[in-house]
Amino acid sequence: MKLSVFILLLSICSGCGSTPVSNQWATVTQPAKTGNSAQSIGTYTAGCLRSAASLPPNGTGYQLMRLSRERYYGHPDLIRFIENLAQTTAIQYRSVLLIGDLGQPRGGPMLNGHRSHQTGLDVDIWYLLSQTAATRNLGFDERETWSSPSVLAAKSDAIDNSQWSLAHEKVLEAAARMPEVERIFVHPSVKRLLCTRKTAHDWLRKIRPWWGHDDHFHVRLKCPKNNNDCHGQEPIPEGDGCDASLAWWFSAEAKAEALAPKKPAPRPLLPPQCDAVLNE
Ligand SMILES: [Zn+2]
Repeated sequence: MKLSVFILLLSICSGCGSTPVSNQWATVTQPAKTGNSAQSIGTYTAGCLRSAASLPPNGTGYQLMRLSRERYYGHPDLIRFIENLAQTTAIQYRSVLLIGDLGQPRGGPMLNGHRSHQTGLDVDIWYLLSQTAATRNLGFDERETWSSPSVLAAKSDAIDNSQWSLAHEKVLEAAARMPEVERIFVHPSVKRLLCTRKTAHDWLRKIRPWWGHDDHFHVRLKCPKNNNDCHGQEPIPEGDGCDASLAWWFSAEAKAEALAPKKPAPRPLLPPQCDAVLNE
């Protein structure tokens, strides 16, 4: 690193009590275990995780994908959530959830792929409810090379009915009804579809439209009890979200924003407690 860059990083950080982010978070291979209980520390986009648990590669109603990435660590609440949702999926819909990224062994920023997923409270779940995976455990290579098809018809924001089913809606509803779930990110078209259903809409508030998310949905849990250094997000607005705020996602302005080159994410400054987690 050039000295000037190093000094700049130090100056960005002076007084904040936090270390500049390095890629050490992505190379550490074991959870930090000191302390009695798992602790999510900081925010979803600038935080870390102590005493993470790991999700086994297979369980009732789910299989873990992309094993080589080793992003299968999370707060024990997240592991329990996945196992519970998968049980429901298996029993009620005879389907298997394919699980994408959770977080790294000690949480923290990743080198690629996500800005969030830093406190062990986020998980990506594929929309693909595979019949193959319902009959056998997928092999390592299948888990590396399979991808989840988009639920959108090509180059449009219409749902592709060949990739969608009532089970998808029920799985999203089951997840959103779980009290530990804070919000779920889906493609705006998925939210729009759910808004047209004549069902009770109280749970729909947690389903939030966001860029991408047409081949997976992203579940985010609330800060667990007694995780006092965990900082949640601003509350979800009142109402079920089937309003002008949803219509915006289909506006010319939103589409232009989606195509605009993305600014690099600012380097997150982690809370000082994360220094101990990383250096343990
Ligand atoms: Zn995600």
